[in-house]
Amino acid sequence: MSMPALMPVYPRCDVRPVRGEGCYLYGERGEKYLDFAAGIAVNALGHGHPALVKAIADQAATLMHVSNLYGSPQGERFAARLVDASFADTVFFTNSGTEAVECAIKTARRYHFANGNPQRHTLITFNNAFHGRTMGAISATNQAKMRDGFEPLLPGFAYAPFNDLDAALALIDDHTAGFMVETVQGEGGVTAATPAFLQGLRKAADEHGLLLVLDEVQCGYGRTGKMWGYEHYGITPDIMSVAKGIGGGFPLGACLVTAEAAKGMVFGTHGSTYGGNPLAMAAGEAVLDVIQGDGFLDHVTTMGERLRAALEQMIPNHDHLFEPGLRGKGLMLGVKLKPEADARAFVAHLRDNHGLLTVSAGENVVRVLPPLVIEDAHVEEFVQRMSDGARVFVPASDD
Ligand SMILES: *Cc1c(COP(=O)(O)O)cnc(C)c1O
Repeated sequence: MSMPALMPVYPRCDVRPVRGEGCYLYGERGEKYLDFAAGIAVNALGHGHPALVKAIADQAATLMHVSNLYGSPQGERFAARLVDASFADTVFFTNSGTEAVECAIKTARRYHFANGNPQRHTLITFNNAFHGRTMGAISATNQAKMRDGFEPLLPGFAYAPFNDLDAALALIDDHTAGFMVETVQGEGGVTAATPAFLQGLRKAADEHGLLLVLDEVQCGYGRTGKMWGYEHYGITPDIMSVAKGIGGGFPLGACLVTAEAAKGMVFGTHGSTYGGNPLAMAAGEAVLDVIQGDGFLDHVTTMGERLRAALEQMIPNHDHLFEPGLRGKGLMLGVKLKPEADARAFVAHLRDNHGLLTVSAGENVVRVLPPLVIEDAHVEEFVQRMSDGARVFVPASDD
């Protein structure tokens, strides 16, 4: 068997995008897709947003990269804006979500080390979690499909069922450093934490001197209609990983931390060659300008409500295919299929026959992650096409 030049770790489909415009993608043969996958919650401003394009072009022409050995007026400015907009006091910039998670894990361990408790190194994480693909991130999930063949994994993780507070609390022992959890699980099936669960983890962390680490790589940055997912719960974390939407398509992530939780992260403890370079900061600020613009998050909330209402109306019309009910928050929604239908096959059907891009997730769910800039017309087009697709979809199980 010959090995393709591009390492074949993805089962890539036949769509080969070459151009994007707003909420649409265009393939190599000129075919057009309504993009409700948005690069998996990355293209928050859609494709080719003029402010983002201009910011990147201008910054590339001015100064693209310098080492983190030098002062960073660009990084200081963007970090200060994130601090103002969140629970955090300090920010470490990365190039991806998994690196933001890695920084979160290191920060949590180092906190207890700095407090004279190096034995407190274990993070309690949750079934169905997705935290990325580094050794640290795959060790933080108990999903076999991501871990098999990569052992030995990083020690220092214990796993409980998601949304099961009692099970999580039962795992606390002398080695526990804290909890790490997605506020809304994305990859795992678009499942939001329940308020009692997240509030219970916060309370337990406070009582036991533990850290609450939220992974908002997918659900943060306006996706749910609030700047951060945790704002729906009336709590704040100690540490939070962010990425995906933050760069609007430019590779950028961030680890946000309180001053207390960051106290172990002193000179020399962490680093990144590219992390937070001027080009990334320019992209990040351009996206943040839009997200913090007047009424933007209200728009996300409104569009989320309309999309939800339209889907809830459509779902019962195709009860051979869809389970009742809708998952998720804001513009991070999930439609669960009946066991006899396969979410991946339905995603492929929508893509190949109805010009519609969505993403499958765990638990047989179709993820709906449009650009945050969608308008009513996109919602109508989406639901119409999905409904058309559902009507003619034959749940064959040969996928
Ligand atoms: C996508 C994702 C990651 C990993 O991000 P990468 O940029 O692919 O490294 C981590 N956590 C969550 C919740 C994600 O959705």
